[in-house]
Amino acid sequence: MTARKLDGKALATTLRAEVAATVAERTRLGKRPPGLAAVLVGGDPASAVYVRNKHKACQEAGLASWIHQLPADTSQQQLLELIAQLNASPEVHGILVQLPLPKQIQDDAIIRAVIPAKDVDCFHPENVGLLAAGHPRFYPCTPHGVVLLLNRNGITTLGKEVVIVGRSNIVGKPLAMMLMQKPTASNPAAGDATVTVAHTRTRDLAAICRRAEILVAAVGSPSVITPDMVQPGAVVIDVGTNSVNGKLTGDVHPGVAEVASALSPVPGGVGPMTIAMLLVNTLSAAKMIDG
Ligand code: NAP
Repeated sequence: MTARKLDGKALATTLRAEVAATVAERTRLGKRPPGLAAVLVGGDPASAVYVRNKHKACQEAGLASWIHQLPADTSQQQLLELIAQLNASPEVHGILVQLPLPKQIQDDAIIRAVIPAKDVDCFHPENVGLLAAGHPRFYPCTPHGVVLLLNRNGITTLGKEVVIVGRSNIVGKPLAMMLMQKPTASNPAAGDATVTVAHTRTRDLAAICRRAEILVAAVGSPSVITPDMVQPGAVVIDVGTNSVNGKLTGDVHPGVAEVASALSPVPGGVGPMTIAMLLVNTLSAAKMIDG
């Protein structure tokens, strides 16, 4: 079997065009363009690339976008002051603070400082709580990208055995919340699946993974998911981004393509979907703030 490619790049292009069309229509009606302010502290090269890609995607879809580049020795107080300005700015609908932050700044204090209405990453405890309660204000970008990559490729999650490897606040945990919940009008992306979350303390990871009809790898370790861990015919989503000899690779061993029925590639799978969902959330924030 050679797995069908779940092409996140192509789907993200479609979603970004949908956002661009809505933004153009809003602009025609005299509304302010949705605006995303990205904050980058320090010179981490991977973070700089992520922020640049998000900025470019915003510009291409007609959103306003600003990058606030701060030096690595920025104090927590200075960063909080910038966030207060962005919270108050009517031109800014979404605020993204690129993580990780330098060690003198506590991530948690910064996440809590962004007002929930502009928290397009969906990291603020209020938004996490709303998601957990089944009444999301925003869906977090990477988990939402995973869900749409499945749904828009005709892969239903209803009643399926899903195994997610990884329990981070950014990917594994919110994705588990989304996939286990019952869909409602206010929670349309909920998956109605039976979800297992695995991590470094999981006993016999391979046996747990083999139960999965849909297996999601969000680990951050190249080729950690090997072909023997995959049930023949399973759908496999690779969230991982690892640099191996300067080349971007996922968490899934290439041999999995011979066992799975469908597989998201790295690059070109979840990564572009994450950026598209950030645009979707910024547009959604603009609609909630400006009408
Ligand atoms: P993270 O915070 O480091 O979490 C990794 C998770 O994987 C942890 O829960 C950890 O378990 C678990 N884990 C690590 N090694 C394991 C192993 N050998 N067996 C089982 N579980 C293991 O990472 P993250 O932020 O969730 O990101 C995960 C990956 O996705 C990274 O490669 C990241 O770059 C990528 N990512 C990609 C996108 C995108 O847009 N494509 C977005 C976000 C993240 P413990 O909790 O027990 O430590």
